Amino acid sequence: MCFILFYPEESFKGNIAERSLHSYKWSEQSESSETLNVAEDIISERQKRWETIQLLLRRGADPNASWVPPHILFFAVKAADAEAVKLLLERGARTDVRLPSKLGGLTPLHIAASIPGEEGVQITQYLLHSAPDLNARAEDGNEIYGPDKIPQPQAREANLTGGVTLQLKNEAGPPQEYFSSYSGPVPEDGGRSALHIACEREDNSEHARDVVRLLLMHQANPNTLWSGHSPLSLAIASGNDLAVAELLKHGADPNLPLSGAVRSALCAAVSTAYEQQRTTAQRIALVDKLLEAGADILAPVTIREGQRKAVGTAVDYAYYKYYQDRRIAHTPYHILSASEQEVFQMRRSLLEHITAKLREHVILKEEEWDQEELRRSKKLGSAVHTRVSKKKGGSHHVEEVRLPFFKYCYQCGRSVGVQLSPCMRCHEVFTCSETCRRKSWNERHRQECLGLLEKSTGQAALDASSAGCKKNVTGKTGENGREGKDERRGGRKSKVGIGGREHHRKND
Ligand SMILES: [Zn+2]
Ligand SMILES: [Zn+2]
Repeated sequence: MCFILFYPEESFKGNIAERSLHSYKWSEQSESSETLNVAEDIISERQKRWETIQLLLRRGADPNASWVPPHILFFAVKAADAEAVKLLLERGARTDVRLPSKLGGLTPLHIAASIPGEEGVQITQYLLHSAPDLNARAEDGNEIYGPDKIPQPQAREANLTGGVTLQLKNEAGPPQEYFSSYSGPVPEDGGRSALHIACEREDNSEHARDVVRLLLMHQANPNTLWSGHSPLSLAIASGNDLAVAELLKHGADPNLPLSGAVRSALCAAVSTAYEQQRTTAQRIALVDKLLEAGADILAPVTIREGQRKAVGTAVDYAYYKYYQDRRIAHTPYHILSASEQEVFQMRRSLLEHITAKLREHVILKEEEWDQEELRRSKKLGSAVHTRVSKKKGGSHHVEEVRLPFFKYCYQCGRSVGVQLSPCMRCHEVFTCSETCRRKSWNERHRQECLGLLEKSTGQAALDASSAGCKKNVTGKTGENGREGKDERRGGRKSKVGIGGREHHRKND
């Protein structure tokens, strides 16, 4: 009775653990001068009541005696009253108690992890000292993380347009040799743990980080799922980079497969869904932080679009999300408003950054292998590809490839929903469009392509091919059509010059 009177409903702090209380109004106290005397009375009355509580507990009142209404520990936690929580715990209040199922089955630790301010940190600490079940799950496993719910107008638009953003063609994704596959068990989705709740907080990054740290230091499991999210992906989605750092330091697996709106931590970092939480520089820094912590940018990511699906990488996922926002992705730049242009710029910068990272990683990986073999495989792969697609028009079965290699656009990094054609000169890189081909040629591949040729032809053919290349380079100033034709002609010439004869013989 004392606790009910001591903590009227308006004394409870708003918290994200108790979703049912979200619409809760609690700032409607009037502060007119008339109520001042009353307020004084209330204070002295509260003081007396607090003394009564202390007296009762000191004389042996059992803090676990009542469960309807809920255990009195919940009152003190919800009111963010650290002193009362401490007293109750000292008097043996149990921490393994739960709110009824209709209120989410929360434990005191769930609520403590969501209490804003220093008090939340303090209360979490007190609770942790009495060894509660750190990984207890709330009964909200069927809930969807708020920002992942598709807003009505967007859902309607997707229905109207058929919602197709990418032409998925059942692509198989990077061959296994390219990524370090996740070896642990795929975690089961369940209700929220206290760690999920702390990572989901958007109130104060430092306080939330402190709670996250406390939980992790007491061995809370950072690799569990709720609503398809890990604590790490929630911290990414809620914009708490301090919590991200803490999680990575304490064993959160950046490659943990997720089962909700995002497929991995990296996907969460590149998704447009949570982009408003960070500046462009912060988003780029986050991607780098994850990569540094071992996130694998070449890990396969399954993308679904209606009935179709394909396997690509986090880069494909980023493009998939990018193209879902038709307004930004498909409207001519000058028609966009100033703020939309800013969003466009931000998204393009991030895409460019992760594309560069993907390319870097592929190149690093491929350097570990036998270069001759890889080169032969690529050449054979692209030769077969051109031959077959000429005959059947678009079918692309490449069965004669020896070393499996990852086919992706050397410029934009995409491997899903794109038609890739090899560089006609070296057959070692692929691009998805004329724009990408020209861009990659100008930005980096021109140098590489000439270098590659020298390597693969050896000294004998060097003279002939470099003469051919020089002609192309000088002949391609300005006109784009010319550039393409010249290069293709040069490519065919050099193909005969280098190892081409050998593989013709083999194919015959
Ligand atoms: Zn491309
Ligand atoms: Zn090339």
